[in-house]
Amino acid sequence: MTRYAGGLPGVAVAREYKYMCSDPGQELIRQDIRDHGLDRIVVAACSPHLHEHTFRQAVALGGLNPYYFHMVNLREHDAWVHTDKAAATEKAMDLVRAAVRRVKWHVPLEPRQVSIQADVLVVGGGIAGIDAALTLANAGKHVYLVEREPTIGGHMAQFDKTFPTLDCAACILTPKMTAVKAHRNITLWTMAEVRQVEGYVGNFSVTVCRKPRYVLEDLCVGCLECIQACVYKQAKVPDAFNLGLGKRKPVYIPFPQAVPQVVVIDPETCIEFKSGKCKKTCVEVCAERHAIDFHQKEEIRTIQVGAIVLATGFEVFDAARIPYYGYGLYPNVYTALEVERLVNASGPTGGEILLRDGRKPATVGIVHCVGSRDEHTNRYCSRVCCMYSLKLAHLIKEKTGAEVYSFYIDVRAPGKAFEEFYNRVAEEGVIFIRGKVADIYPAGNGDGRVILQAEDTLLGMVRKIPVDMVVLSTGLEPRADAAAVRRLFNIGCSSEGFFLERHPKLAPVNTFADGIFMAGCCQGPKDIPDTVAQSGAAAAQALALIDAGVVELEPNTAHVVEDACSGCKTCIPLCPYSAISFVEEKRAYINEILCKGCGTCVAACPSGSIRQNLFEDEEIFDEIEGLLVPA
Ligand SMILES: Cc1cc2nc3c(=O)[nH]c(=O)nc-3n(C[C@H](O)[C@H](O)[C@H](O)COP(=O)(O)OP(=O)(O)OC[C@H]3O[C@@H](n4cnc5c(N)ncnc54)[C@H](O)[C@@H]3O)c2cc1C
Repeated sequence: MTRYAGGLPGVAVAREYKYMCSDPGQELIRQDIRDHGLDRIVVAACSPHLHEHTFRQAVALGGLNPYYFHMVNLREHDAWVHTDKAAATEKAMDLVRAAVRRVKWHVPLEPRQVSIQADVLVVGGGIAGIDAALTLANAGKHVYLVEREPTIGGHMAQFDKTFPTLDCAACILTPKMTAVKAHRNITLWTMAEVRQVEGYVGNFSVTVCRKPRYVLEDLCVGCLECIQACVYKQAKVPDAFNLGLGKRKPVYIPFPQAVPQVVVIDPETCIEFKSGKCKKTCVEVCAERHAIDFHQKEEIRTIQVGAIVLATGFEVFDAARIPYYGYGLYPNVYTALEVERLVNASGPTGGEILLRDGRKPATVGIVHCVGSRDEHTNRYCSRVCCMYSLKLAHLIKEKTGAEVYSFYIDVRAPGKAFEEFYNRVAEEGVIFIRGKVADIYPAGNGDGRVILQAEDTLLGMVRKIPVDMVVLSTGLEPRADAAAVRRLFNIGCSSEGFFLERHPKLAPVNTFADGIFMAGCCQGPKDIPDTVAQSGAAAAQALALIDAGVVELEPNTAHVVEDACSGCKTCIPLCPYSAISFVEEKRAYINEILCKGCGTCVAACPSGSIRQNLFEDEEIFDEIEGLLVPA
């Protein structure tokens, strides 16, 4: 290959080096530029996605313009996609020959520099978003934290304890939530969603829509007297925070530690909204403050930010999708998140684990991997279910003294102090049965008991265990609107639907959109320590970007050859980045800052008067000829 490349017209020197991207490899390039007076460089190696930047820098340090360089992708375009080695080697020769012909047309280019907006947007106010917002705000950046629900806190706010240390979730989360509200560098918008994102790295223009709460946030002091005064004498509406296990009134606060401490009015159930005939006792008790406003409207705000951190989290797998587990059919089959609410002192039973008929369960079966590691639902492991199942087994035993059976495929406890926690729970007397539960059905004596049937793969026999209560350890899934959010922010999704990282090892919090980072379970299932580690990393990346003050943009933009442009305007509506406008008479104008170099306008221009840096006609035609015509 090297001999072949060395014999191509115009090639002064060809080298092979196993680790060309390493420092000695780059030094070889620099030295050859100096020794041989080279004016164009081609590297035929692995993915440009990983190393094009490295080699451009090496070329620049050798004294050449970095765009006098071209990289051939022998990995994804050749070695990885062919099994016939001889044919792949021939293809490699074709690709190198084409690159050598192309690179001679390269012209010197300079990256564009644009200044950066200093503010940051964080989307999602779970632990990931809260932690990222606080890190950024503590570093002096102004943060807009946009949360869809009436309160921040996310899933963590619903837990009682957290594994493996059994810290009280509220005790560690609430101070962070209140710190967000109190921070002078954070603007918190709850009941809000991002509607539109325009612009580019360093300069995003984001439109946010705030839904009405019907209570003025600046005036409400969270005295909760309006809830007492509401004409609904009893709470009748299923309470979403308690997953329907408790009830609330139409005017409510999601949970006692909610941030902001501001009530919400639910127009779906409020009599005033439904009939206009309510006595409005809530307004009466708030007469001094006038915080209740039935006429509040949706608010649209547009903000300019330099970076965005996405922290939109996850959804719990819907257990009703596995009908033979009887969720929604048998009253004593619960999801793990429901049991989190039952064990919680601020939950619907005040922390007592009670069945729907008010009895304490004497036997409980916990079913692992519901909607995870299963070819009919999700093949991936949800990473936290084994550990939260152990936590719930411990808490149920502690609170009820019940006999607890844990049905598992295998227990995954790979984190710090996780194995020790598993041993502790086993020593407490939880009975572990290795086997996937195949069926759950009523015991038949009318007392609400159900039988869990599973093949015990250690004993090699089918077990049928009657229990009072079943806990389904449901997996973590992407949010239902993850695909829409992905499109809004122009980022990628993995095959499971979680947001896709730019590189799984080297850029795990970066997305494919420059300036947009992600943290927490929107990227994939993970526990709270990993979520917090990731939100710190995302915040650090956003800080590094903003503190640089300017951002360098690739010069691979399109430009109009003015004299040739007929002013037909074909290109203007086609540009996905709204980078083209029509100025003066008969001329398209491309804003190079907005242009991402996608090439749509170049291909569409009927008069061929739009050209693109690094994709000039000469470069492309000579490359094609090089491919087709052997030297
Ligand atoms: C039953 C159960 C028990 C668990 N127990 C533990 C435990 O004991 N210890 C542990 O370490 N981990 C535990 N976990 C895992 C833990 O829940 C996650 O690690 C953690 O909640 C991830 O936080 P997050 O901020 O990424 O996501 P979330 O908690 O889901 O927060 C995301 C936030 O973003 C908001 N949001 C979503 N979409 C939008 C949008 N488009 N615009 C604006 N806002 C939006 C949501 O309303 C939410 O507030 C448990 C998980 C489950 C299911």
